[in-house]
Amino acid sequence: MVRTRFAPSPTGYLHIGGVRTAMFNWLFARQRGGQFILRIDDTDQERNLEEALEPILHGFRWLELDWDEGPEEGGDHGPYFQSQRQDHYRAAAQVLLDNGLAYYDYANTEEIGAEREAAHKAGERFIYSRSWMATSPEEQAKFEAEGRQGVVRLKMPREGVCRFTDLIRGELEFEWAREQDHVIERADGTCLYHLANVVDDYEMRISHVIRAEEHLSNTPRQIFIAQGLGYEPPAYAHLPYVSEPGSKNKLSKRKLDKYLKDPEFAKLNEHGQAIADAIGLETDAESFNPVIVDFYEKVGYLPHALLNYLLLLGWSLDDKTEFFTREEMIENFSLERVNKAPASFDPAKLMAFEEHYMQELPLGEKVDMVLPYLEATLLLTVPPSDEERSYVESVVRAAGDRIKVAGDIIEYADFFTPDDQLLYDQRAFEKRLRKPAEAAGLLTEYRERLAVLDAFDAFTAESLETDMRSFAEEKEIKIGQIIHAVRVAVTGKAVGFGLFEAMEILGKERCLARIDRALSLI
Ligand code: GLU
Repeated sequence: MVRTRFAPSPTGYLHIGGVRTAMFNWLFARQRGGQFILRIDDTDQERNLEEALEPILHGFRWLELDWDEGPEEGGDHGPYFQSQRQDHYRAAAQVLLDNGLAYYDYANTEEIGAEREAAHKAGERFIYSRSWMATSPEEQAKFEAEGRQGVVRLKMPREGVCRFTDLIRGELEFEWAREQDHVIERADGTCLYHLANVVDDYEMRISHVIRAEEHLSNTPRQIFIAQGLGYEPPAYAHLPYVSEPGSKNKLSKRKLDKYLKDPEFAKLNEHGQAIADAIGLETDAESFNPVIVDFYEKVGYLPHALLNYLLLLGWSLDDKTEFFTREEMIENFSLERVNKAPASFDPAKLMAFEEHYMQELPLGEKVDMVLPYLEATLLLTVPPSDEERSYVESVVRAAGDRIKVAGDIIEYADFFTPDDQLLYDQRAFEKRLRKPAEAAGLLTEYRERLAVLDAFDAFTAESLETDMRSFAEEKEIKIGQIIHAVRVAVTGKAVGFGLFEAMEILGKERCLARIDRALSLI
C-alpha cells in the first residue's frame, strides 16, 4: 500500500516550492490507489497554530489536493500534529538509549563551541570528543550534581558508509564520519525533528518519503534512527529545488526584492497588486506575492492552471506534452521522470497556462469567477439579479481573452459605474475631447443622430458602426476624428475592446447620458 505524506511546519502561508512537493506526493499516492497524509510539524510552534495552519489547508482545498488523513480528516494513525506526539518520540529515544545508539550528553554550548573552534583552527572536520557523555546512571548523577543539564544525542557510527537508493537520484553513498552526534531530545525532554519524523513515518505507515532535496543530507541519520528502532526505512525520493527565476538558487520568500528585478516576475506581481488594490484587499508583500499560493487565488487564477504549471516544474512526460487534465496528471505521473536539476520558477510560463485554461473556460463559469470582484468593489448587488448577471456576461464575452485572471474584470469597472460618476482618463479626455477644436461640435451632432438612431434600426454594434461611417462620410471627416471622441466620452478611456460592442452593451440611454456628461465637462 502506497502512503505518502507532506509535513509542513505551520508558517501562515503555502510556498510555491512546498506545494509542488505536496502535489507530487499527492499525485503519486493517487496514481497508486494509495493514501496521502498531511502531518503537521508543529514542534517549534510559537505563534497561534490555528492561524498559522489555516492558510496552508486553505491552499490545499483551493487546489483540490485532498488528503486522506490529517487535520480535520482524522485517521487511524493520529494524532497528526507532532506537538501531540511527544510521548511516542520519548519512548523511541529510550529505545535508542537502551540499545546504545544514543547517549545522554552533558556538555554545555561553550564546551562544544570550543571543540568546534579548535577543529576549525586546525583545519579539521569537527568530531565531538564525547567527553561529557554519560555511560551510566552514576555518571549522569555526577554531571547533574555539577548543575549540568543533559540532552540525548545519537551515537553515530564513525566509519563505514550509509548506502541507500533514492528513487530520483539512484544509488547513493554517504560516509558516516561526516555525520555529527545530533541532538534528538532537548534538556527539557522535548524531541527534535529527525527523531520525530522517523517515528511518525513509521507509525503512520509511510511507504514513500518524497520531499525536497534539502533533506537529502538528513537521510543517512534518519535511516540510522529507523534501523536502530528496528524499522524498515521507507523508500526515499528527493525532488530538485524550485529555483529562482533564471537561476539555480532555491526559491525563497525572503528574496522578493531580488525577484522583482526580473521583469516577468515584476509583471506578475504588479498585475496582482493592482487587482488587490482595486478590490480593497489589505496586502503586505510578505504574505501577498507570487511565491505564495494564496496570491493566485486572491487575484482569480484558475487552480488547474497553477497545478498544470507546478506539474511541469521538475517533471515532464515527454518533450512536447504541456496540457494535462487532472486525470491525465494522475495517470501519467512517475518519479522516474522527475528531473535531477532544479526547475526554475518561470512567471511567463505560469501566465501562459493561465491564459490557455481561461480561454477554454465556458462563459458561464467565467462569469461566476468574476462576480466576486465586482461585488467586492460594490459595483453589483449581492447576489446579482438575473438582469445584472446577463449584463456581466455581455461584458465578459466582449472582453474575451483580455480577461486573463478573474480579477481583470476590474478593468471593465466603467461598465458598472453609474453614468454620472464615470471617471475619465484625464490624458485621454484632453487629447480627444478638449484639445481638438472640432470635437465638441462633432460630438454634439453625433449625439443628435444617435438619439434617433433606433427609430429605424436596432442599437447593435453592427448598425452603430455603419451609422458612424456614414456620419463621417457626410461630415467629410476621418472616422478616427469621431471614433476616439466617442470612445472617451462613453467609456472614460482611450483603450478597451471594440467601441461599438461597448455601446451596444451600455445601451442607448446610457450612451446618451455619458456623451451629455462629457459635453458638459468640455
Ligand atoms: N517539516 C519538514 C519540512 O518542512 C518536513 C521534512 C520532511 O519531509 O521530512 O521541511
